Amino acid sequence: MGAKKSIEMPNNKPNNKARNRLGLPAELLLTGRSALFLDVDGTLLDIAPTPDAVEIPADLLDTLSSLQQTLDGALAVISGRTIADLDRLFHPLVLPAAGQHGFELRLDAGPIAQPGGTDTRLAAVRARLADLTRAYPKIIVEDKSHTIAIHFRATPADEEPLRRQLNLIVGEIPDRPLLLAGKMVFEIRPAGINKGTAIEFFMRHTPFAGRAMVFIGDDRTDEDGFRAVKAGGGLAVRIGSLAGSAADCALNSPQQLRAWLKGEAARLARRGA
Ligand SMILES: [Mg+2]
Repeated sequence: MGAKKSIEMPNNKPNNKARNRLGLPAELLLTGRSALFLDVDGTLLDIAPTPDAVEIPADLLDTLSSLQQTLDGALAVISGRTIADLDRLFHPLVLPAAGQHGFELRLDAGPIAQPGGTDTRLAAVRARLADLTRAYPKIIVEDKSHTIAIHFRATPADEEPLRRQLNLIVGEIPDRPLLLAGKMVFEIRPAGINKGTAIEFFMRHTPFAGRAMVFIGDDRTDEDGFRAVKAGGGLAVRIGSLAGSAADCALNSPQQLRAWLKGEAARLARRGA
């Protein structure tokens, strides 16, 4: 258990300056009627050289547990990791969670729903990729069940022909899946499922429904979440720069976010007591 050293927040006066004395945006305030959505890597936790090397600061679990209680359970993690991985990270907490960018959804400690689970669009992609592998034997196809990655690190000169072939493949499939280009990799995933649809899922269910949304993220894949939250009148917060982002305000670092969450947890707990 971490030391209960609370951070005193200034009074929430209507004419608060744009940034309060902790250097935080003035609109960053939770109430007992907030629904809080948190990305994990690069947002709640500092980025580590490998996903397995991330560290959970000692008092973060206390903070999240306290917020879960004061928000009546309306706190969810929205991540690219699998939910099994999130449970391992946040043990012993079992949080409402969206894994694999919304391809896995879990409202509470119950079963995990997979909105893209038996996706026939990707089944069609799989069949076509078998032919592609014969034509380009050096590519590596990594099937992550909800996303298929086509690595061409061993044959970089094939990038453009591969892109053309993959565009043809996804183009022939109804409800055309997305083809995304990364570093030495292409990724194919079904369209229509992302962090935004994940947040919308939670907002259709108790205890989230009807609450004021706050989503905090740091990356390109969080922009779908920012847009969904703003469309619902909520607050979108980015860790890092606001340049090119749909977010309303920014925090500097995961460390600053954790300090803010800790302060808010203490403030809400005092109120509820
Ligand atoms: Mg992130």
